[in-house]
Amino acid sequence: MREDSFEFYSVAFLGIILGRYFLVAGLTYWFFYSSDRAERMSSRSPSWQTIRHDIRLSAIAAVVFAIAAALILSTYSAGLTCLYSDPRAYGLWYLGASYGAALLLQDTYFYFTHRLFHHPKLFAWLHQGHHRSRYPTPWTSFAFDPLEAVVQALFLVGLVFILPLHFITMIAVLTTMTVWAVLNHLGPDHLPALFPHHWLGQWVIGPAHHSIHHLKYTVHYGLYFTFWDRLLGTQDSGYTQTLNSFSLDE
Ligand SMILES: [Zn+2]
Ligand SMILES: [Zn+2]
Repeated sequence: MREDSFEFYSVAFLGIILGRYFLVAGLTYWFFYSSDRAERMSSRSPSWQTIRHDIRLSAIAAVVFAIAAALILSTYSAGLTCLYSDPRAYGLWYLGASYGAALLLQDTYFYFTHRLFHHPKLFAWLHQGHHRSRYPTPWTSFAFDPLEAVVQALFLVGLVFILPLHFITMIAVLTTMTVWAVLNHLGPDHLPALFPHHWLGQWVIGPAHHSIHHLKYTVHYGLYFTFWDRLLGTQDSGYTQTLNSFSLDE
């Protein structure tokens, strides 16, 4: 197998993506769920069977993402993408600006595709696997049905053709995606109640916000920011009231 071949990239990325999943989800799960407090909340803790299901789906999703990553690197080698390696090519300010733009684009793509996945005709095919955990854990963060994984990976493949991104920016976006996905699936009880209810937090999605989505399927479709949920009326009224009461208390 040649070191710059599509097959080599696929296998290498599969190792990296799986390693990242077990490291980040495993450490977070161990840290937040192995305490006595977590045991007392055992009625909300998912069974090992559900966790095994999440891990199996994540392993299949990792194959999809590895193929997507190999595709990106192969097309980059062929000079077809907008990825670049000289940090000064667009100015240093652009590294930050393109990072913000990538997150906003991904959040928008995620919101609308996620709403589509909840359409009764599509749900069983694309999104049921992710919702098997009513009370998600960090293991749920990457648990996508294969078709959903394809839709998510397509965003990253498409992005490198439309937005010039430095490699470091791309890695920063992928790291943010991983950390945020794990945070969103921590469950509502593992962080202080004030998180994320400070002024900036109202615009940011965290475990409390996304946990409500796993309980009520009709609200909270966003990934990073609450902007689209607030604009399009899919923010849970109970959650909004909680936010307001926190703002009044301050
Ligand atoms: Zn959903
Ligand atoms: Zn989820």
